Amino acid sequence: MSQKIKSLLIANRGEIACRIIRTARDMGIRTVAVYSDADAKALHVQEADAAVHIGASAARESYLMGEKIIAAAKASGAEAIHPGYGFLSENAEFAQAVIDAGLIWVGPAPASITAMGLKDAAKKLMAEAGVPVTPGYMGANQDPAFLAQQAAEIGYPVLIKAVAGGGGKGMRKVDDAADFADALASCQREATASFGNAHVLIEKYIQRPRHIEVQVFGDTHGNIVHLFERDCSLQRRHQKVIEEAPAPGVTPYTRELICSAAVRAAKAVNYVGAGTIEFIADSSKGFIDPDLVWFMEMNTRLQVEHPVTEEITGVDLVEWQLRVASGEPLPLRQDELSIDGHAIEARLYAEDPAKGFLPSVGRLEFFELDGSVRIDTGVCQGSEVSPFYDPMIAKMIAHDLDREGAIQSLAWALNDSKIWPVKNNAAFLINALEHPD
Ligand code: ADP
Repeated sequence: MSQKIKSLLIANRGEIACRIIRTARDMGIRTVAVYSDADAKALHVQEADAAVHIGASAARESYLMGEKIIAAAKASGAEAIHPGYGFLSENAEFAQAVIDAGLIWVGPAPASITAMGLKDAAKKLMAEAGVPVTPGYMGANQDPAFLAQQAAEIGYPVLIKAVAGGGGKGMRKVDDAADFADALASCQREATASFGNAHVLIEKYIQRPRHIEVQVFGDTHGNIVHLFERDCSLQRRHQKVIEEAPAPGVTPYTRELICSAAVRAAKAVNYVGAGTIEFIADSSKGFIDPDLVWFMEMNTRLQVEHPVTEEITGVDLVEWQLRVASGEPLPLRQDELSIDGHAIEARLYAEDPAKGFLPSVGRLEFFELDGSVRIDTGVCQGSEVSPFYDPMIAKMIAHDLDREGAIQSLAWALNDSKIWPVKNNAAFLINALEHPD
């Protein structure tokens, strides 16, 4: 069934809302923003063709209010809802409610979201589909003594992970059997508090881990392709800081193995739309050995770091999302996709590295980023950085012939950017880019 989208509501804020509006506008689609009290003057509200106020500043009272968002779509004549990332993007009930309201959901089927929602269920499904998964225990038995015995069998160090975890929360590395019981209890406490689900799985802790993820895309005609891999190994507290594509040290042979495993994974859930299959690789040999790459999880949405894939493939992933949601087939076949050069992205956060990376809020009296690289942002000079949401204010993305060139362009652009008085991590990012490791 095919229905061209003429009007789109974006159930998000900040840079990703602005990013989606840009492509929608290029495609001649009318855009509707939603906003909270704190965002009344936000950039995404100014850039959309229409905007609907949905509630108070706290996300719980606005961007997470599915019913209000659906009502806003109906009231404003939008036929489709794009969730962006975060907020309701991986909420299967919301996706279903959107569909039940007679609207187009720009995302995968609710059943695919559910299948991939819990880390243990997703790993089991992938193992059945012949995708290698990180060695470990992912069963139902949650008895502490039994789990301790599993950890011993896997061999220390191990990682305890909340099955419902995300965003780097609900994980504990354990080096020694003597520390297992305490680590388990504290992980379960955090999992209950943050995700309302105490279940955990145990994985072998991978030494010198590299985070390699593959962009996949499916349509409603049964086609699934991959758009190569990204490397997101540079993290702070398990959160991505710098991402690049393609992944360094991956040979064409290894790439083919990893990317075809990702396509198998997507096919196992009849995937439709943009998705990411995350793998972890043991790089202790100094390169990526295809035998030491394991499935970690699948994200059933557009990722923050999608621009590096767009830069090396020339594909607009938001355009593909909107075309697929309208029932069109994928615009390109696998053999029509190739890698051009190297792209690297840095996430600019309003936070103070000198104060333990605490968020820094306030008015951006001065905000001038060097436009020699791609900038995806949701703020401009005069914007307020509020304490209510994620403190990421912009992404800067450099694309060059090779990795060295891309790193240099990005470091240069960061160095040339002026942000005041809100504290930010630009200097930290430049250090990371220029670090020999
Ligand atoms: P989340 O859903 O919270 O993002 P992930 O399962 O994606 O959690 O893991 C986040 C990060 O933690 C990974 O990118 C990787 O750096 C690290 N990590 C995850 N699993 C392992 C493991 N088995 N060994 C070592 N590091 C790991």
